[in-house]
Amino acid sequence: MADPRQRVPGTDRVLAHPEVAAAADRLGHRLVKQAVHTAQRRARDGEIPTSEVVAETLAALPDSASSSRPVLNATGVLLHTNLGRAPLSRAAVDALGRAAGTTDVELDLSTGRRGPRGAATLAALLSAVPRAEAAHVVNNGAAALALAATALAQGREIVLARGEMVEIGDGFRLPELLTATGARLREIGTTNRVRLDDYRAAVGADTGFVLKVHPSNFVISGFTSAVPVAALRGIGVPVVVDIGSGLLHRHPVLPDEPDATSALADGADLVLASGDKLLGGPQAGLLLGRAEIVQQLRHHPLARALRVDKLTLAALEATLRGPRTPVEQALRRDQRSLLLRAERLAEAFRAAGIPASAERSEATVGGGGAPGVTLPSAAVVLPERFADLLRGGATPVLGCVAHDRCLLDLAAVPPEDDDELRRAVLAVA
Ligand SMILES: *Cc1c(COP(=O)(O)O)cnc(C)c1O
Repeated sequence: MADPRQRVPGTDRVLAHPEVAAAADRLGHRLVKQAVHTAQRRARDGEIPTSEVVAETLAALPDSASSSRPVLNATGVLLHTNLGRAPLSRAAVDALGRAAGTTDVELDLSTGRRGPRGAATLAALLSAVPRAEAAHVVNNGAAALALAATALAQGREIVLARGEMVEIGDGFRLPELLTATGARLREIGTTNRVRLDDYRAAVGADTGFVLKVHPSNFVISGFTSAVPVAALRGIGVPVVVDIGSGLLHRHPVLPDEPDATSALADGADLVLASGDKLLGGPQAGLLLGRAEIVQQLRHHPLARALRVDKLTLAALEATLRGPRTPVEQALRRDQRSLLLRAERLAEAFRAAGIPASAERSEATVGGGGAPGVTLPSAAVVLPERFADLLRGGATPVLGCVAHDRCLLDLAAVPPEDDDELRRAVLAVA
């Protein structure tokens, strides 16, 4: 009897199949070849018929050469660090595509000469925050802090209140980041209280700057006192304010969250913020403030190491100039329409025999800002086992488990994704 392995089609023959060849163009030869080898091995082992090698190869191929997978965020946390924080607007996604090839990022097309890098993005930032004399963009909020500390306080002191010594997550502590630049920390006040006199007494000839850090992921309540930025005006050294979340103006839904315009109006010389928190854009660190200080940072040798790429510049500009971001839309959803959506989904699940209900819930902004603030929301309630099933599904959905139930909170799910969410649940049921 002939050895059935002999009939397994050869690699070149499978790769020459038009659909497989097209996949190799799209995904790369190496990745497709691996899938062919796997299918051939399965045929040799008798797991699939040899006639199925092409089909098996095609079925095993990923949609993309990148293994990064879209996940539906049903956690009720708008800015989820593990899910990549802010989802980009359609406009920003389009901008990424346009910027991906060769672009005029550092070329003045009217003269053919080298132009200032990212000029349009900085102009968009300044037009959004007219209070700022100048702006600069680096890789993330931590990079903005590192650049400010290095350029303004290396070998000198940064005055910081003990109640603002923040750990931002994954073990990263801002005080450690600051001292890693060669600056020294001058801690003032106590965990719960600091007074203007503490700042006055600490500032001296050796002070690089006074730093105010927004406690963006915790709240201290009770017997507390802090010194607002406005009170530090005229203290004699630059006042740098790390607002964290990147709001450019006061936000009606989050009235207590600091914003760049108010901080500058209150007298901050430099404001630092992240691009991918409440601003709703790509990962970036924004520096806004007095021209002389921003120039100093921009020309520091470290600035080159923290420089953002053309993709970030493009996505950030589109975020600033474009329509409301997904984060902004999520902040403005009203509970009634969220509850209606949850009820409609629960009804569809019950019709398929899945025990489901809808209820009011509370969403949060997340580690990116507005600690302690809850946003009225609504969730679909499913049996607890759905949490694992949904995370492992073809369209992964991340819900949250509470009291032995799986909650799918809709605050961070755009309504246009309801169909996808419904299909994801029905597929794993
Ligand atoms: C998030 C945050 C940072 C760090 O910003 P990244 O963009 O994550 O590097 C720094 N300071 C504050 C107050 C923050 O909330």
